[in-house]
Amino acid sequence: MERLWAPWRMRYVVGPKKPRGECVFCSAAGGDDAAACVLARGPHCFTLLNAYPYNNGHLMVVPYEHVSELTDLALEVQAELLQTAAQWTKVIVESMNAQGFNVGLNLGAAAGAGIADHLHLHVVPRWHGDTNFMPVTGGVRVMPENLDETYERLRAGWVESQGTQ
Ligand SMILES: [Zn+2]
Repeated sequence: MERLWAPWRMRYVVGPKKPRGECVFCSAAGGDDAAACVLARGPHCFTLLNAYPYNNGHLMVVPYEHVSELTDLALEVQAELLQTAAQWTKVIVESMNAQGFNVGLNLGAAAGAGIADHLHLHVVPRWHGDTNFMPVTGGVRVMPENLDETYERLRAGWVESQGTQ
């Protein structure tokens, strides 16, 4: 059986617990969009491209609030989190011809969260046969498209999708 969730541990090197100001998501939330790979912003959540992706187009939807538990989020924020991810699956199908997705949360370090203090929803596009290349032991993964290209492609796709709603 394929263990699709296990490789999701982000390869960020997370040192000792950092003060809130140094949280990478909080930093991205308030910083320059392109520099932080932020793809889109909503009222309660924003989306950024994973700089250490497990597949092309691997992005994360993140609430602005620095919380670790789903129950810490107001219902409308929970809703926006999922709605944003849903919209992204549509955009990624249209922009990158994705054939499937893994969408999920790793809550807590025990569940494989690289950044456990600030929850984030992963959206990982999948294509038939891509598991052939899944890194099992943390080896170098060759991506067919670089991050900048993916960023531009997805941001354009998102803007376009907003215009057609
Ligand atoms: Zn944070």
